[in-house]
Amino acid sequence: MQFIDLAAQYQNLKERINNRIQVVLDHGKYIMGPEVQELEERLADYVGVKHVVSCANGTDALQLTMMVLGIKEGDAVFCPTFTFFASAEVIAFAKATPIFVDVEEKTFNICPKNLEKQIKQLISDGKLIPKAIIAVDLFGLPANYPKIKRIADKYQLKIIEDAAQGFGGEIKGRRAGSFADIATTSFFPAKPLGCYGDGGAVFTNNDEYAELLRSLRVHGKGQDKYDNIHIGVNSRLDTIQAAILLEKLAIFPQELEARNEAAAKYSSLLQSHVITPSVPEGYMSSWAQYTVVVNRRDELVAKLKEKGIPAVVYYEKCMHQQTAFSELVHKEGDFPVAESLAKQVLSLPMHPYLTLKNIGNIIDVVKSTS
Ligand SMILES: *Cc1c(COP(=O)(O)O)cnc(C)c1O
Repeated sequence: MQFIDLAAQYQNLKERINNRIQVVLDHGKYIMGPEVQELEERLADYVGVKHVVSCANGTDALQLTMMVLGIKEGDAVFCPTFTFFASAEVIAFAKATPIFVDVEEKTFNICPKNLEKQIKQLISDGKLIPKAIIAVDLFGLPANYPKIKRIADKYQLKIIEDAAQGFGGEIKGRRAGSFADIATTSFFPAKPLGCYGDGGAVFTNNDEYAELLRSLRVHGKGQDKYDNIHIGVNSRLDTIQAAILLEKLAIFPQELEARNEAAAKYSSLLQSHVITPSVPEGYMSSWAQYTVVVNRRDELVAKLKEKGIPAVVYYEKCMHQQTAFSELVHKEGDFPVAESLAKQVLSLPMHPYLTLKNIGNIIDVVKSTS
């Protein structure tokens, strides 16, 4: 059994993807070819934002948002401590200070209450300037943007939505990528919408941000790429990856439905044995991961492995426990919810091609250890 079955997806799309790639090989516009713009337009329609600027990967997308917002040394950017490293890395890379925030026990996402507490603490310390919040749509579930927005407005902070895992998620019919001043996603193969290499995108309704992003991703270009008006980066989405994504996006709604069906099946059969993921009223997850909270995790992982079922711990270490952030000096107990989740979470196989038989086999093992 595969943790994420990309081969099954390719079998389903083989002819369409091969044909699309062939079109690119025939026209030969490998960098910024017509498929890149077509994809950006389709993504803007799907997400419901004015501008989509594609780039080389999800980390670059986040880094570009730091550049657009002018985040620099002396600035503080808040982010959840329970996330993938890139969400916090880009803050430090911009020479600003990441201020970690605990997460909610039920949703695994940034806790609005703890966020406001950290903001107040930072302001009263008076050493750093609070600038922005990077909220993460962890495992596919959008963070609580209505509450985060109220806090951001109160303290005049910008919101960045890290929708690397959240693409396809919804709050009351609005889609992930549209909840913040500026949002990002990743097309890493294992993400809900993945390509066959690295890829990423930035979403915004702000015309100025979009114009700056289009310049920054090509060495800060002005009129052309040999007229440079900013210090930028080289971060473009390959035309071949855009071509692959166009075909994958076309079937994404059906895949999202299949993921939600698999998640519903898991939850209905597992809820009396482990803590299953909770999706608040009005929210929809894109199920980048299906993550349960268990007591004897090592034992369960070993039993699953025995039966050929892969399960992965996302994430074993919180950001405040990472060696790279050791100079920020945190101690055990600073973020109790995240720390306890890190010891108990386990992600089970999740993808649109998971069969009921697969799910049945996984559930039998979970039941026998709980
Ligand atoms: C994957 C991921 C990223 C980074 O995306 P890449 O394309 O791998 O650079 C950022 N944030 C989160 C939450 C992610 O899961």
